[in-house]
Order: sequence, then structure tokens, then C-alpha cells
Amino acid sequence: MNNISGRIGFKENNWDGLVYYTIPSFEQTGLVKHGFSSRLGGVSTGECTSLNLGFKRKDNPENVRENFNRFCSALGILPDQMVFSDQVHKDKVLKVDLYHQGMGFTKQSEIRETDGLIAHQPGLALVTFYADCVPLFFLDPVKKIIGLSHSGWRGTVAKIGRQTLRAMEEHYGTRVSDCLVGIGPSIGPCCFEVDLPVAEEFAKAYPDRQEEIIKPFGNKYYIDLWKANIIQLKDYGVPEDNITTASLCTCCNKDIFFSHRGDKGKTGSLAALLMLA
Ligand SMILES: [Zn+2]
Repeated sequence: MNNISGRIGFKENNWDGLVYYTIPSFEQTGLVKHGFSSRLGGVSTGECTSLNLGFKRKDNPENVRENFNRFCSALGILPDQMVFSDQVHKDKVLKVDLYHQGMGFTKQSEIRETDGLIAHQPGLALVTFYADCVPLFFLDPVKKIIGLSHSGWRGTVAKIGRQTLRAMEEHYGTRVSDCLVGIGPSIGPCCFEVDLPVAEEFAKAYPDRQEEIIKPFGNKYYIDLWKANIIQLKDYGVPEDNITTASLCTCCNKDIFFSHRGDKGKTGSLAALLMLA
């Protein structure tokens, strides 16, 4: 993927066989603990082999708990510090605080239909879930604010990345030009093939940038979700140099990641985690 602007490449980490990815620019601030999981290093079997982090998958909940324990250990956080999203492919972003800590993992969640989370309190670990959709990590290193959003194709059309920044501005006075953003492993322009109705949604959402995002191929279309998110973030004021794209396709790398499309729906769940230290 040589036409991506901004910075390219997440860092691969290996914690006793558990592989996860981090964003170099986030690490350099020393402000956060974070990571994006792979499918390697867990205890699940079958289609969820092995680091499945989704309770909604075909997996034993005890396996998922153990996988979270391992993922959290690798990242140096406690499992009860986590708060889970409740993803429905929409653009709602919720400000969460210590009241929400544990929701989804150690206690019943009150969070509904929420694809994006923002927070200002240290020790609260935001968690969102993936199997091809695009994870967006946000850090305002000046005001010390974080955000984490699930941006599948519907979220990318609805511009949840911009919604996340807007929520950070409104609740915390974040300046968008200060923000660092990470675009995690997800289905790439190589594999995200769609039919005309989906391509038309992108044409409507990004009218001046269609040629960069939509590539016709026969009677199908290939969509570049990474590019669409970069364009969306840059247009809203994030400096290009502040955006880091993993540029790793989950569908091309089924041996490393769960991929909804690559595994024809029979797959586990990856997770993104972000916490102010
Ligand atoms: Zn691919």
C-alpha cells in the first residue's frame, strides 16, 4: 500500500507467544498503555484459535476470560480496568469514566449501541472489537484525553472518526491539531470488494475523493477504508504526520488475525485497548 499518506507501520510485540501491535507515536508520549491483539497466544480452539477476545463468538466464555487475562498481562493492565463498547456499526461516541470501569467484563454493562468511547481518567481501559473493521486510536497528548472507535464500512461512511474528535473537543476542549491517531490492522484495499450500493455510499460520503477511495474492477468495486479514514481525519484538522496506519490487512493475514471475510464469518474477535497510564 504505497499511496498512504502520514506514517506507516505499527510495532509488533511478542509477549511469551502472544503477539500484539502498538503505535510508535503513542508509545513515545509515555502517556498510555495500548495494543491491538492478534489471534496468536490464546487458549481458544476451532474457528476461535487461539486468542479470541469476543464473548459473542462460538467460544467457551472461560477461554475468552483467560485470553483477556493474558492480553491484559501483556499490556500491563488489570482486567477489571476495562470497559467494553457495544458495537452496532453506527457513530455514537460515549464519554466514559471510572463509574463504567469493568462494564462488559467484571460487571453488567449499561452501555448500549456505542461504537466509540472517550475518556480522561487514568486507569480506565477502553476496549473495542474487530474482525476486519477499522480500529481508530486517538490520543490528545496535551489535554491527556483518549478515544477509541470501531469504524467498519458503515462507520467510515458515517465518519465516526470525526465524531470521536468532535466529542473530545466538546467534552474536554481538545484541539484536533494536537491529536495523534492510529489506524489499526483491518481489511485492506486489496480485499475489501463490494457491490455498487456500498460503493455509492462511499461516493456520497466522500464526493470529491471518490477516485482515491473507490477502484472499479469488473462489476465490483474495491474500497480503501484506510484512505477514507485518513482523508476524513485530515479534512477535520489532524496533521498528516500525526496519523499512523498499520497498513496490515487482516484478510491477507488470516494466520495472524481473525478476518470475517477471510474466514467466511467463522472466526473469533480481535480487540483494541487504550488506557491513560
Ligand atoms: Zn488484503
